Formats: sequence, structure tokens, C-alpha cells
Amino acid sequence: MEPHEILQRQDQYVLPTYSPELLLVKGSGCNVWDSAGKKYLDFSTGISVCSLGHCHPVVTEAIQRQAAKLVHVSNLFVNENQPQLAATIAKKSFGGRVFFANSGAEANEGMIKFARKWGSDKGRHDIICMTNSFHGRTLTALAATGQSNYREGFGPDATGFKHVEFNDLDAVSAAVTETTAAVLMEPIQGEGGIVPASPEFVSGVRELCDRNGILLLFDEVQCGMGRTGRYFAYQHFGVEPDAMALAKALGNGFPLGAFEVQRKWEGVLTTSTHASTFGGTPLACAAGLAVFQAIDDEDLLINCQEMGEHLRGALIGLVGKYGKLKEVRGHGLMLGVEATAPVAPVLKEAADSGLLVLSAGKNVLRLLPPLTIRPEHIDEAIKILDSALEAWDRASVESVPA
Ligand SMILES: *Cc1c(COP(=O)(O)O)cnc(C)c1O
Repeated sequence: MEPHEILQRQDQYVLPTYSPELLLVKGSGCNVWDSAGKKYLDFSTGISVCSLGHCHPVVTEAIQRQAAKLVHVSNLFVNENQPQLAATIAKKSFGGRVFFANSGAEANEGMIKFARKWGSDKGRHDIICMTNSFHGRTLTALAATGQSNYREGFGPDATGFKHVEFNDLDAVSAAVTETTAAVLMEPIQGEGGIVPASPEFVSGVRELCDRNGILLLFDEVQCGMGRTGRYFAYQHFGVEPDAMALAKALGNGFPLGAFEVQRKWEGVLTTSTHASTFGGTPLACAAGLAVFQAIDDEDLLINCQEMGEHLRGALIGLVGKYGKLKEVRGHGLMLGVEATAPVAPVLKEAADSGLLVLSAGKNVLRLLPPLTIRPEHIDEAIKILDSALEAWDRASVESVPA
């Protein structure tokens, strides 16, 4: 079908909840191509999903092999891959037990259900969440999300969620009551503008939770799976959560989510208390296993740390050059540049010049390149970004009334 016909069908038949313009037809490594054959350097990675780059051969081969062997049997049966993937996640993190889902929102929903179930015989059901957080678009994940604009028109909100200022330990402390079950946070806020938790905040909240006998839940849907240079972002902070949610990069594009709970809480979600028809199929888990294998075999955590430093340095250079850029934030290859104005024109200009980058909120440029990236890709991206910023800077000077 001709590209213009496809775009026409998008307009006529797909609900307009998104407003995409670019039709992408293939990807390989750090690049994607549109329907006109134009090549882009992809620093958006499907929103931190294709962290190994597009169509990574190890993942593609694993999906192809498993698709020809067994796709789905439901969780009424054991499949060969799910226990292996659970063991791998546990080994790379805190040795807990894992439930498999299909998305970030579903993983968070399950983790919240875990916390409620844990608190059900203690009268504890409330979850303390952070301002500017993002936990997904299902109704309960939305109620946990600390940005009210996402909830507009979808009320009444699910109850049992309180929001306190992110990185404000006193605010969390003041919000804890005898009905509090858990504190939920992203170690590094993604959609909220690439805002890392401060080390004092994370260790302070951990202590606070221990002192009050409540749970600490981490949403690692965006910052997990090597994105920050460690397997999980919490590993930068020297504390462990009681549970964490994963999704996005877990399947490198094959839909897969999960939450893991500490082994001491393995008895909370007992038989029949939670389920997902599609969760943890042999096919999805084959993709997940291939992701871990590729990260280890190709030393991608090290590459992420090194390339993260390279990219951060180059971005700091741009902040020094353009007055409208304020600061660089983030860890590893989860980096944001805060600006004093909306960055949408920069995204558009960069895309026109062959670089896909994201925003996080209105004023933050968000860079999430593949963990496989090499210095020459970063240099090319910075060159394009530099020109895009220059055009942006020039345009805004021109638009200032004389
Ligand atoms: C993307 C994201 C989610 C939601 O994931 P979906 O797969 O879109 O449901 C939840 N939490 C965080 C931190 C995210 O970045």
C-alpha cells in the first residue's frame, strides 16, 4: 500500500489519541528509515524500549526460533522460558520472585495490588506517590501518577493515592499514617522531565519505610534494564526496594512487563490472587532472555556508562553555548536537557535533519539512545542537535518584538 494511503487510513480509522506524522518502515541498530527511504539516527528508541537498537540479531533470532516452536500456552502450564527469565531478573537484582505482565501500567497495577494485599490484614491500603511521577494510563496507574493533566476527564479517580513533593523527605514523612501501605517512586523520573531522586531522598525514604514497617516500591519501567549504566537504577543508590516494576526495554520491543518482590514477601500474592492471560508467554520470555544475554555478551552496561559520559559532556557543551538551555540531568544514557522554553521546534528541526529525539514535558529534551551506541553516533547526533538549537535560538531572537 502507498504511504499516503496508509496515512489516510491512520486518519480515518485509528483513534486520534496520538498525532504521529512520520511513517517508519524499518530499523537496524541505531537507525530507522521512513517510507521515503530517509534514514534517521534514533535517540528515542521507541521511548526507551529498543535499548539494544532496532532488530538486534540476538533478539530477532530468539523471537523467530520461539515463534516456530511455541507461542502461548497460558499460565495454566509451565513454559520453558518464563522460569529462566524470572531467575535471570532475580539474579541481576535482589533475588526475589517475579510476576509477568505485558506493559508498564500492568506491571505497576500488579505491584500496587501486591502492596494492598500485603497491607490488607494490617489496615494499610494507601500509597504515597510523587509529584510529576508517571506510572501508566490504566485507571489505577493514573491515580498513582503525579500529573493531574493525565487524569482530566477520566474521574472519579481511583482512591487510596496521595501525592507528595518528589525529593522532599519531610513531605513523605508527614504523609505517612497508620493506613499507609507503601511509598511508590521512580528512582529517576522519566516522563516528568528526567529528574533523578537525590541519594539522601532514596536512603531517607528507605529508612522511613523500615521505621514505619511499610513497603518501598520502585517503578523502573523506564530507568531499568541497563538504561542508566547499571541493570537497575536503584543500584546507584545502595538501597533495595520491597518490589519493583519493569517493562519497556525488557523485551526490546516485544511487549513484556514484570514486577519482582523480595523473597520475604513471596507469600503475599498466593495462588489465584493475581493473573494475566498473556503474561510471560514463551515467546515474550524468549525475547527477554535474549535481551539479558546481549547486554552481558556485549558489555553494554560498560558501554552505556562510557557513552553516557561522552554524551553528557557534549550536552553540557551545548548548554554552555545556548542561553535557552539550563542544565543536563540523568544517569548513563537516560539524559535530559532542561530549557527555558518549549522544545517542540527543536524536535521537529532535528527530525528533519535525520535525528529522532524526545521531549519529557514541554521544556525538557530527552535523549534515550540505544545502549549499543558508539562515539561516532553521538558526534553525529550532537552536530544535528547543535544546528537545530541554532535555528531555534535564531528564530526566537527574530520573534522578539523590537
Ligand atoms: C512508560 C512508563 C510506564 C507505562 O508503561 P506502559 O507500557 O505504557 O503501560 C510506567 N512507568 C514509567 C516510569 C514509564 O516510563
